[in-house]
Amino acid sequence: MQADTYRHKGMRLKMTELLRNKGISDESVLCAINVVPRHVFLDSSFVEFAYQDTAFPIGSGQTISQPSTVAYQSQLLMVKKDMKILEIGTGSGYQACVLAQMGAKVFTIERQRNLFLKTKALLTEFPYHIKTFLGDGNKGLPTYSPFDRIIITAAAPEIPEILIDQLKPNGIMVLPLNDDNNEQKMLRITKNSDGSLSKEEFGNFRFVPMLKEIGND
Ligand code: SAH
Repeated sequence: MQADTYRHKGMRLKMTELLRNKGISDESVLCAINVVPRHVFLDSSFVEFAYQDTAFPIGSGQTISQPSTVAYQSQLLMVKKDMKILEIGTGSGYQACVLAQMGAKVFTIERQRNLFLKTKALLTEFPYHIKTFLGDGNKGLPTYSPFDRIIITAAAPEIPEILIDQLKPNGIMVLPLNDDNNEQKMLRITKNSDGSLSKEEFGNFRFVPMLKEIGND
């Protein structure tokens, strides 16, 4: 793994303060962003981009989400220590590390084999509780369910009912749901203790699409 130098730490602190200025107020999220070395998820020649608030290509046609989006979704999830969280779309593994740094036990699914293998190897170098799975996130992880929280990090065409079923009572799912303009609205769904759903809508975002089935594309 690439070293985490004072220079990296300095850039990361600046980025954390930028996110605070952009409205992220959950201190546990800000603290995790300030700890997780985002540059190790990018090729070392792109270190200059690691601590800017931009998405970035990570190979296999995929992107590492923008730090403010990672922070925003993490904040909407209202994470508490020891919670079991299911993530759909492992990608670089950065979002999973942020949640794990917040004290969660993370179960994360990726459908692209190459990305899955690369990220699985990188994540073993962190001390976090993160389990990686190759598969179609639309199906969730019935064996490990129910979850306290579910986060989808690819654009969902509809609310995946199978995943709602894998949520605990009072559990929360955060997902970017496609709208009619090729954009996504961030949605927070709470599964009430009587099984009914409460939905809250937040801003517009752009994510790569949530696809079905495993692939190498
Ligand atoms: N959370 C990631 C960002 C992921 S980008 C990070 O922190 O870097 C979205 C990811 O979702 C891509 O890697 C894409 O391959 C994956 N994906 C798309 N559809 C999927 C599905 N049905 N199941 C699992 N992963 C999926």
